[in-house]
Formats: sequence, C-alpha cells, structure tokens
Amino acid sequence: MSDFAQTVKQQADIVKIVEGYIRLRKAGAQNYSGLCPFHKEKSPSFSVHAVRQFYHCFGCGVSGDVFSFVGKIENVGFPEAVRIVAGKCGIPLPKREFSSPEEAAGARLRAKLLELHECAAAWFEEQLRGPEGAVAREYLAGRGMTPEGIKAFRIGYAPDSFNALRDRLSGMADNETLRASGLFSSKEHEDGTQGPIYDRFRKRVMFPIANESGRVIAFTARTLETGEKAGPKYINSPETPLYQKGQVLFNLDKAKTAIRQAGFALLVEGQMDCISVFLRGIQNVIATSGTAFTEQQVAILKRHTSNVAVNFDPDAAGANAAEKSISLLTEEGFAIKIVTLEDGLDPDRYIRERGVEAYTAAVRGARRQADYLIERARQMFPGASAEQKVKAMNYLLPHIRRMPEKLARDQFAADAAQKLGIDSAVLREELRQAALRRRDHVEARATALTEVERVLLRALAITEPEQERARRQTAQALAEQPAWFEHLGVYPALQALAGRQANDPMDVVEDPAQRALLAEALLAETKPPEEGEVLSALQELQERAVENRQRDLRALIAEAERRGDFAELALLTQQKLELDRALRQLHRKDAEPV
Ligand SMILES: [Zn+2]
Repeated sequence: MSDFAQTVKQQADIVKIVEGYIRLRKAGAQNYSGLCPFHKEKSPSFSVHAVRQFYHCFGCGVSGDVFSFVGKIENVGFPEAVRIVAGKCGIPLPKREFSSPEEAAGARLRAKLLELHECAAAWFEEQLRGPEGAVAREYLAGRGMTPEGIKAFRIGYAPDSFNALRDRLSGMADNETLRASGLFSSKEHEDGTQGPIYDRFRKRVMFPIANESGRVIAFTARTLETGEKAGPKYINSPETPLYQKGQVLFNLDKAKTAIRQAGFALLVEGQMDCISVFLRGIQNVIATSGTAFTEQQVAILKRHTSNVAVNFDPDAAGANAAEKSISLLTEEGFAIKIVTLEDGLDPDRYIRERGVEAYTAAVRGARRQADYLIERARQMFPGASAEQKVKAMNYLLPHIRRMPEKLARDQFAADAAQKLGIDSAVLREELRQAALRRRDHVEARATALTEVERVLLRALAITEPEQERARRQTAQALAEQPAWFEHLGVYPALQALAGRQANDPMDVVEDPAQRALLAEALLAETKPPEEGEVLSALQELQERAVENRQRDLRALIAEAERRGDFAELALLTQQKLELDRALRQLHRKDAEPV
C-alpha cells in the first residue's frame, strides 16, 4: 500500500464511509450492522468494526477494509477506491496515476463534463432571473414554486436560442467534448458526418438531475411552447459518460438523510411532484421520472431503505411503468405501501390544494400492497360468481408468487381467500401453492468458534501496547507447543496472526473461511482479552493436550499388557504417572485465584 493510501486509511472512518452507502445501526460497543449491499438479505448480517476498521458479512463472507468496501460497491479498482475515499475525507489527491491511458482519458472527460454541467446549470439559473426568463418565472409561480425552492433545486431557463449556451461554453472545451456532454444536438449529414452543434434545450424550464453527491450530471427540460411547435412536453439529456438514466434516482442526493431518519422512501413519478413534496417539508421523497425502475435503481435504493411508500398516478397503476416498478421492488424484498389520493389528484396538486397535513395523513394512511391489490382485484372483477373470483385470483397469483418471504405470501393468500370470499377447496389450494412456491434463502452463519478459540484469536489480534504481554504469551505458546493448537479449527488463522508484523489482523489472514472466523471473534469482542483470560485459555489447551496424551498412554499400556511387554509397560506407566502429576498441578493452579 502506498504512503498516500496508508494516510487515507488512517484518516478515513470506515463507519462513516459505509454509512454513505447503507444504513448502519449500532450493534455493540465497537461495531455496527446493516443489510449487506453485496448479497440479498432481509436481516442484517453485515458488520463494521469501528475500532479495527474492517467490515465483514456473515451471510456471504465478504470482508475487508475501507478501500475494499468502496472498490466493491463502486465497482472500481484499488487506486480509484483510494481516490474516492480520499475525496470523501477531503484529503487532497497527489498527482493522478491511472492504470491505463484510456482510464486517464475517461476520468479527464468525466471531470470536464461535470465542469460543463456545473457551468450550464449556473448559466440556466442566471437566465431564469434575467428578462428572458419572465415567462418561465411565471410558469413556476403558477405551479406554486417559491424563489427559495427554485434556488434549492437550481431550476433554470434555457432561452429560445440555438447558440447562446454553445457560445457560453465553447471556450471551456473542444467541440468533441461539448458534443459528448449531451447539452447540444447536431444534424447528421448525408455522408454520415455530424454537422455543427447547437443548443439542445431551447425555451424550456431546466431541472438539473444530480448524482448521489449532489453534482449536476444531466437535465430534464419542460417546454413552455404551446401548440404544434412545442415538441415533447419533457425532454431529458441523452445518456453520456456522466449520466446513465437507469442508474440515477431523482432527488436521492437531497433525500437520503431523511429516508434513513423516516425509515422509508416516498416514491413519486414526476420530478415536479417530487420537488413540490420535498419543498413542503416531506424530504424523504424521490422520483422515478416516469419510467419503470431498473435493477440498478432498486439496488441503489436498497442501500438506504427497504421500505417504500409508493404514490403513483392511480390510473397508470394498471399496466405500465408503475406496476413494473412495484413488481421489481416486491421481488427485491421491499415492504411496499400504496398511497392513494382522493379525486385522482397527483401529489403536486394534492399538496398544493389540500395542504401538507392532508398529504402527510394520506401517506401515513397508505395501505399495505397486499390490501391494495386485493381491493383492486375486487374492483376489477366485481360480483360473487365463481368466474369473477377465478379472474380476481389469477390477477393476484403472480403478485403473491413474487414476494420473497413465505410468511408474507401465506398472509397475502389467506387475506385474498377471505376478502374475495373464496371457499372452493380447489382455489384455496392454488393460493396455498402460490405461497409455497418460493423458498426462503436460509443464511448459514459461521458460528463454529469455541470460547478458547475466540480468546486466542483476540489475543493474537491485540494491537494495544499495554496488552502486548498477552499477545506475546500466546504467540510463544503457539511456537513452542504447536501440538496444543494443531487440532483447532482456527489453527491456520492463529499461525498467520502470530507471524504478523505491524499489519492489521484482518489483512494477514488470507483464507476467506479463516478470515470469516477471525471477523466473527473480533466483531463480538468489546475489549481485548485480559491476560488472565488468555492464560486460562492456554491452560485449557494444555490440559486438553495432557488428557489426550493420557488417553493415548492408557491405550498403549493396555496394548503392552496384552503383549506381555513388561519393559515397555514400566516405561509407559512411568510416563503416565508423570502426566497425572502434571495434570494435578495444572488443576491446582486452576483453583488458585488469578
Ligand atoms: Zn453479504
């Protein structure tokens, strides 16, 4: 590890860094736990040790330090992980080093595109305040936007011009980079080459889209034209090296703290809904931007919560994006509630017309997804005929099958049978089968450690100078009496630890299974073991070794007797007497106060 990486590692707090991605709860004196971001799970088996600065998942076995965590979750290599952690800690980077010229060029391009977007956002804001922005200001005021809200979301205006933004940015980057930014369009010539670039967004209200760190990476633009000239009501930035549509959740940068505090995310469809709700004080709100959730978006959300209240357009909930999003969330084990607003209003209008209290009440009164779906089935297939009941049930079955938890499926099936008035044994059986179908993933925890093994691992992992004696004694015993230790399941880990220099204990044990055992011991401890604890663990090992030897001797003595080998018998008996004496001494030491 380079000096720079070492410095970053010393200054970074792994708990804070991990908390930037997933929710953590304090789980002990020195450790935190949360849902593992690297495998699917419903109960937390992911732990972070605050003092020793490592993470470990008892479910899937991953472990490592802050760089390995960031590398895994951001899907980047070690150098990039170091840079990301350094950035989060505000440590200035040394001269950049990249593993390949392509990587360097890619990073340079993204940095430039961020700069261009920042500049464009500021320029759009400026245009909104200027004389040309009057029509946009009027539109925003009509939608209940205050100047503070406009400022908070950096809403701007793209004037009715083909070259105003281009002229503003052309001094900052070459043509190719400007083209890559997605802020401009161009006509394709007949020979396939691209014509000159011109402003993509014209006479539109500009809503910046930010990444999770709050930096502008794209825009959504709403037209202010009416009639035929208007074009689509909303247009978005195309995909660029900065912006992959399926990987961004609108407003997550502002909402993530509130999502963790509230314990759930409020999901709305439109960006305007999201802004409106957020600005009225309900800050755990994010938007899907009208398209169905992607798996990446679900994974991103899962890092922050697994509870979602969905407030989609009730008319749309039938067939399209909303339903797909809900299905995907269900499959990923989210607990989903459905918010329904009276009179089919969208969240923006509802909160403006009825007030924030009424909206809060509607969110609080959200129905569990199962109840919502059963109600919907009854509305879609009303009546008590067997035919209607079969249709209602067929509508519900896929939803039931999608739920990852058996208990929830059972409950759903039972509720459906009851509320739909299904008394036919055949239909009930189908519901039961739907509930049975998905098997729960059972997480096997590695809890093979004995108390003695725990103490030995912790003793050899001691880093505090004041406890050094306990560490030395253990290492010494291991070197001098390997026979005491050889039968232990953690023997390889003990050997690796005993040979460690100044390294972190978790770094020297390379075998994943052994490392998992070490992580388990370290995560469970509240303080390093006392010398007395260590001595009695060593003594127990010694006793066990003596007892094993006694057993062997007894067998050998019986064998010598059978053969009539008296010389051998005398020798063995002598050895056994010595052993018995040694064992008595050990036990006497046991009785003495430590
Ligand atoms: Zn895991």
